[in-house]
Amino acid sequence: MSDKPRRIDAACEAVRQACRVCRDLQSRLESLGSMRKDDRSPVTVADFAAQAVVVHVLTEALGPILLIAEEDAFALRQQIADGDRSLAVSVLEAVRTAWVDATMDMVLDAIDVGAGNHEQRDSAGHWTLDPIDGTKGFLRGQQYAISLAWIEEGAPLIGVLGCPNLSSDFNRPFDDPDPHGTLYFAVAGEGLYELPADDVNVEPIHIRRLEKDPNEPLRLCESVDGSHTSHSRAERVMQQLGASVEPARLDGQGKYAVVGRGQADIYLRLPRGDGYIERIWDHAAGAVVAQEGGCAVTDVYGKPLDFGLGSRLEKNRGVVVATPELHGRVLAAMGDLATETV
Ligand code: AMP
Ligand code: MG
Repeated sequence: MSDKPRRIDAACEAVRQACRVCRDLQSRLESLGSMRKDDRSPVTVADFAAQAVVVHVLTEALGPILLIAEEDAFALRQQIADGDRSLAVSVLEAVRTAWVDATMDMVLDAIDVGAGNHEQRDSAGHWTLDPIDGTKGFLRGQQYAISLAWIEEGAPLIGVLGCPNLSSDFNRPFDDPDPHGTLYFAVAGEGLYELPADDVNVEPIHIRRLEKDPNEPLRLCESVDGSHTSHSRAERVMQQLGASVEPARLDGQGKYAVVGRGQADIYLRLPRGDGYIERIWDHAAGAVVAQEGGCAVTDVYGKPLDFGLGSRLEKNRGVVVATPELHGRVLAAMGDLATETV
């Protein structure tokens, strides 16, 4: 078998197992341990456990992997060294529901496979992982995604998005968690597929985006968190396009799937002028999912996202996702708005 089908199978299985672990943990949020990272963002038992499980499944299937991931085990190791094992033990217990014979050392080492030299580049390709993208949504009991991508020469070729709370039913509100969730996988040039996040035995559905009815209003999808994107600038862009519908807001890369599957028309992530540089694990899987759903994915200048520069999208600012016909209109409507405070 060539490497590609093995990678696709391993990635889907890794994300599916991590979805189950995260779903279990989200169902008992009150007792869930968490800490704050240096940038003050939250990290929970579930972030660490999901990263360990994904690394374990990929490594079992494929051998040693090269991975650029959001989490590392430094703070957990530090807590253990300081005599506090509580968070680390919770992580180990959660991991063991998927990886039964894991030990603490094995779990910490698995997490750290994704840490370290993030600026490494390998022409043979590498993985990137956000074990819980949208941790704030996870902590609110709402949407989040487990996001895993395979990158070669600066472009994601395989993207898997596990969305444990996202329904395949467009009518189900995002803040009403679905009991099954959805898993999307996309392979560059080979389409976008959907299956339930909790059942491997279901044949994946090939997603074909329906033609937009020009009489229907344009629908925007964006982050819940107004510190990650400018809601007010997005509203002005949508006004320029003559659209006045309330935006659909959800945490994590489920946004790319929502546009890729045709539920919304545009995903905007507009810089707020704070100089933030996007991380590859927040976009790689989503970008290939949206592209294979028939969308164009660029930054606010219309440039393709360059995933070949280590952990950050150094050459890009913000994100604009829309169908090709609409994408040009969005960029034109943004005009100076795109560069105002970037
Ligand atoms: P979302 O759920 O789409 O709002 O995005 C969640 C991700 O936003 C997190 O995983 C963070 O890595 C990332 N993030 C953190 N700070 C910022 C910022 N100032 N601008 C854009 N994204 C950010
Ligand atoms: Mg993230």
